[in-house]
Amino acid sequence: MHSSQRQLFFNHLAQTSDFPLALEIERAEGVFLYGQDGKRYFDLISGIAVSNVGHRHPEVLAAIHAQLDKYLHLMVYGEYVQSPQVKLAEALVNTLALSYESPSPFGLIDSVYFTNSGTEAVEGAMKLAKRYTGRPEFISCVNAYHGATQGALSISGAEFFKRNFRPLLPGIKQIQHGHLPDLEKISCRTAAVVIEVIGGESGVRIPSSAYFHALRQRCTDVGALLVFDEIQTGFGRTGTFWASENVGVYPDILLSAKGMGGGMPIGAFMASTQLMAVFRDNPILGHITTFGGHPVSCAASLATLQVIRSQNLAEQANAKGELIKSLLVHPKIKEVRGQGLMLAAEMESFEVLKPIIDRCILAGVITDWFLFCDNSMRIAPPLTISEGEIREAMGVISGILG
Ligand code: PMP
Repeated sequence: MHSSQRQLFFNHLAQTSDFPLALEIERAEGVFLYGQDGKRYFDLISGIAVSNVGHRHPEVLAAIHAQLDKYLHLMVYGEYVQSPQVKLAEALVNTLALSYESPSPFGLIDSVYFTNSGTEAVEGAMKLAKRYTGRPEFISCVNAYHGATQGALSISGAEFFKRNFRPLLPGIKQIQHGHLPDLEKISCRTAAVVIEVIGGESGVRIPSSAYFHALRQRCTDVGALLVFDEIQTGFGRTGTFWASENVGVYPDILLSAKGMGGGMPIGAFMASTQLMAVFRDNPILGHITTFGGHPVSCAASLATLQVIRSQNLAEQANAKGELIKSLLVHPKIKEVRGQGLMLAAEMESFEVLKPIIDRCILAGVITDWFLFCDNSMRIAPPLTISEGEIREAMGVISGILG
């Protein structure tokens, strides 16, 4: 049974590399995954920045169960008044009712469009920006990751992932994340600048807040929309509910997904009602989704948001991140970058890092590298990880580092 299921995985699941991890997980709880053989693994990557409140958080499970007893899918997006969607949209808007130092010319974000995933949130935001501005061009960053569908891929920043899928969208320009002189490339032809507040797949890169203030100003000056992709940084991951709070710069469109669902699939793009209004006419139904904002996902997401808020998980992420940094001191680690619980431990090369990651997994600690940064170890555990669990997991990594 055990080996045949593994074989069926290779036979019948579309493979996207020749070396999938292929761990067979039986169940998950908190910061742990449990293999079929009962082996326990620390999930130090939260399923790639998803399980911010841990696996199967009891309040998320209770919200899912309660919604299962009421209804599942009722109707395509935007037609019926569905309580889980309404409550979640209100809660999200409330997280954004903050007065930032550098505001958006469109005022506060008060309108939410729910999607099923991060890449769909990116696609929706791109359509919104094109339709609102009537402009053809997007600007994004070198080594940014925004998703795998064709619009999001077009603005992602690594040629290696794009070149064999061309033609992609025309009119894409790239700037260096955090590089002030490049802001001049943003012009009155630019529909939007799409940017991660902290570069995720580039290996946790944090530009200065001065950069973001200058970016905000430039976008406002030329009438380009500023889109923050907080799909990886949001929902408490980096020490504030949104990473942009820490920077003090307010976007025109905000993107969320991943950790937002507490383990269920959901994403969103959010903007002011004034911006979002363009989807109402010419054409009517300017953006359509069947499943976006699924009621069970929305219920799970609201519970996730409430757990993060009520347990101060965002604030705690800072101290927990500092603890990890203080424990990961070793000659093989050149630096530990990051903020909150979004961390990257840089080593000399992939050749040094890869065997360490492999041995960590054997020893029951799951880490990873980054899509566009293969010399750094990804450390982004659930925000619920305890101090004791941090010490134990870091002890395993340190032991393997030798
Ligand atoms: N934006 C960022 C910053 C991401 O990290 C990701 C996923 N790694 C995406 C967009 C795409 O999200 P999804 O995989 O849900 O489509």
